[in-house]
Amino acid sequence: MSIISASMNHKRKRRPLPSVVIVGANFAGLQAATSLPKEFRVTVLDPWPWVEFSPNIHELISGFKTPDLLQFSKKTAVYRAGHRIIPEAAAAILPGKNIVVTTSGNRLIYDYCVIAIGGTTNTLNVRGAEKYAMPFRSVAHCNAIGERLENLARKKRTSSIVIVGGGFEGVEALGEILRKYRKNKNIHIHVIEKEDKLMKDAPADIDAEVRRLCKPYPVFFHTDMMVTRVWKHSIDLSRGIKLPSQMTIWTGGGMPPALLYESGLAETPYHWAPVNAALQHADYPNIFVAGDAADTRYPINKQAYHALDMGKTAAVNIIRHHTGRRMTDFKPSSKPMLVSFGDLDAFLIDKKFVVAGPAVRVLKESVFLLVMTQIDPSGVLMKAIHASGRISQSAVKMASGMSFSLSSLVKLGKIRIINKQF
Ligand SMILES: Cc1cc2nc3c(=O)[nH]c(=O)nc-3n(C[C@H](O)[C@H](O)[C@H](O)COP(=O)(O)OP(=O)(O)OC[C@H]3O[C@@H](n4cnc5c(N)ncnc54)[C@H](O)[C@@H]3O)c2cc1C
Repeated sequence: MSIISASMNHKRKRRPLPSVVIVGANFAGLQAATSLPKEFRVTVLDPWPWVEFSPNIHELISGFKTPDLLQFSKKTAVYRAGHRIIPEAAAAILPGKNIVVTTSGNRLIYDYCVIAIGGTTNTLNVRGAEKYAMPFRSVAHCNAIGERLENLARKKRTSSIVIVGGGFEGVEALGEILRKYRKNKNIHIHVIEKEDKLMKDAPADIDAEVRRLCKPYPVFFHTDMMVTRVWKHSIDLSRGIKLPSQMTIWTGGGMPPALLYESGLAETPYHWAPVNAALQHADYPNIFVAGDAADTRYPINKQAYHALDMGKTAAVNIIRHHTGRRMTDFKPSSKPMLVSFGDLDAFLIDKKFVVAGPAVRVLKESVFLLVMTQIDPSGVLMKAIHASGRISQSAVKMASGMSFSLSSLVKLGKIRIINKQF
């Protein structure tokens, strides 16, 4: 197995094409795989059979979307790119030896490795959270939440649903519960947020908007509160408060997977893997880290569109490194955040303005369509949803450019400006 060295890069003689092991194949890993030519000896490692579109998984809670719309086969996508996939997890990465060990004990030697394993649920070490709270990070998680809600909604007595986390994930989960159950007086929803406002970092008062929309319904906000313990049918909050909970949904954000620290790729279990501008690991130049798993050393939201761009950059830089060319820097694109609130509203949060309204919902749907079609080139999905008439031509055009100027948004109609003061 050849390890490419800097001196070899300058020699003009033919050398074997490098072997690349890609660990994790959702947004970043799949994009890296499809961007590498099939002449490279690429092996993709991922135990989960589906590529999943996490930005819309909250819609499974209400049944507005079904799992088949949000998933497609990883194996097919990797084969189509001309590479092989092993449906196993990496149990260990030995960066000093250029080896990835799979769960069945296979040892894969690499010239280059791309780490794209994303993040894992952050229960903030709250006791009982892992055992009793329902995580909110995958299609399976949100499907399970939807099914459990349906069972609770059938009961003749009041059910208390607790959403832990009032960030964008918690707001989207709340919107979906209201989409389906807001007329059911037995469904009471509690939202717990440690900050004094929901979506505190948003440059507009989303908190006030959400509270206004929730006024007619049994939704209770507990801001400035921490969850201290999760029980099977209740939760404990700071200041000695206890709430009943027939179902606790945990949306507390992500944290680094243990594998990063265990493999010596992160400083502590709470750190992501440090990379330079070319996405090379700080200590191991033949390891590239892409997507949520990467610590770029400057603040960047852990978002799918960055993961896709990082996957592409990692692949391009492997090709460039192998051919002795200068590598390119990953430049995070500046895109607005689209947060839906069931069928009640949606918010577009840009650096310069925040707008809301039905047109934003249509835009979010258009982004879903475009990105899914881009990463799932079979395009079946595109046709299916186009037929449903949920999107408009102008929204698709705008989403494909992903440049949302305030004037073009206003032209879509059904938009209200919440904030443009900054
Ligand atoms: C509820 C929710 C809502 C979101 N909404 C948005 C949004 O609206 N817009 C947006 O841009 N982003 C959104 N995000 C963020 C977005 O989903 C992530 O930024 C994106 O998924 C990161 O992509 P990734 O490829 O780095 O990791 P992931 O998508 O997490 O993929 C990691 C892959 O690695 C695999 N894996 C893990 N461990 C191993 C291992 N040991 N060996 C092999 N494979 C492994 C997993 O099976 C998985 O396939 C949302 C996330 C969540 C959870």
